Amino acid sequence: MFKRDFPYFANSKTVYLDNAATTQKPKNVIDSQIEYYEKYCANTHRSSYGDANMATRKYENSRELLKEFINAKKSEEIIFTKGVTEAINMIADTFTRDYKSVIISSLEHHSNIVPWHMQGRDLTNGLKVVGCDNNLNFDFEEYENILKKNPNSFVSVTHISNAFGKIHDIKRVCDLAHKYESVVLVDGAQSLAHAKIDVQKLDVDFLALSSHKTFGPTGVGALYVKEKHLENMKPYQTGGATINEVDFNSSTLLNSPYKFEAGTQNIAGVIGFGEALKYINRIGYENIKTVEKDVYNYLNSELEKIPNIIFYNDTKDCIGSRSFNIKNISHDDIGILLDKMGIAVRVGHHCAQPIMKKLGIKGTIRVSTSFYNDYEDVNRLIKALKKALDMLS
Ligand code: PMP
Repeated sequence: MFKRDFPYFANSKTVYLDNAATTQKPKNVIDSQIEYYEKYCANTHRSSYGDANMATRKYENSRELLKEFINAKKSEEIIFTKGVTEAINMIADTFTRDYKSVIISSLEHHSNIVPWHMQGRDLTNGLKVVGCDNNLNFDFEEYENILKKNPNSFVSVTHISNAFGKIHDIKRVCDLAHKYESVVLVDGAQSLAHAKIDVQKLDVDFLALSSHKTFGPTGVGALYVKEKHLENMKPYQTGGATINEVDFNSSTLLNSPYKFEAGTQNIAGVIGFGEALKYINRIGYENIKTVEKDVYNYLNSELEKIPNIIFYNDTKDCIGSRSFNIKNISHDDIGILLDKMGIAVRVGHHCAQPIMKKLGIKGTIRVSTSFYNDYEDVNRLIKALKKALDMLS
């Protein structure tokens, strides 16, 4: 029923089940991109003529919308970035070097692993990985032990695993971290398409967000920084739009968020991100949750009937992604055949090689749903999957 809001579905026959990679965009988001380029294309925060003012107003309006959306205290706490990857790199580069330990979970995306390696950290030097049980549930006992031995750490964990759909209990992660004088960054790449985040209620210190996984344009995202940390964060890049005063010997910088947004930003993208948030507000998380959980459950019940299917976790505390393999059949081969039958899923390691290695596999077939997917999508997937398995057995 919600597909009618997304032009992609009127133009494509593909059964789109790759929402963890990127979501489709509703009409108001697409229209906002065209409107910016066709009607008031101008740079922000520089010139004072009408179109430039309009661009600045709309850009800043997205900041206000996001602030309200995640219940941040102040708009200064919202910094626009290229996406989650840039947000984590920004924090790794500007905030965390003095922390002796960085604690991550075993389900992290490469974007929350590689930046720590770039700091020279590994398992013998400052990087601690919290394990999980057989259903990929975060091991809170191990987490607390690590924190106890390493107070004043930087914790960086994903909210929802892109590869397996497992939801981490972020409130508990934050409460325990704060008990041991540590701070927490939440990788919220997969969050806002499925669940509300209230940064004050959860008490997160940093939250990295991605527009393109939240029904918005690609190449844009945001970093929320709790006000008290802003003064300890240095700019990641500097240059135009970040400065107060410059002469040939020195420069002084503006306050947050401007000192963190160097150069011309992805103006259309930020405006579109705001439109995506408006769209979610219009549908409401209660509706989103109800319909997507229903389809997710149906998907699982249908997949469970497939002979020789191998899952790596139960579906408790999961949403969005469901990963599996079929015994003795290559996931790559299945992916190729599903594509030929018009089914878009992702096969491979899903940028989460360490957990794949821990599970002893190279990758999985990942079906990732959004609230606009319906039973018909699941039925077509299952039909195609059965056909592919017949061909490959
Ligand atoms: N973390 C997770 C959990 C993700 O799913 C992704 C995207 N696949 C990223 C980080 C990177 O996000 P972005 O594309 O916004 O840089």
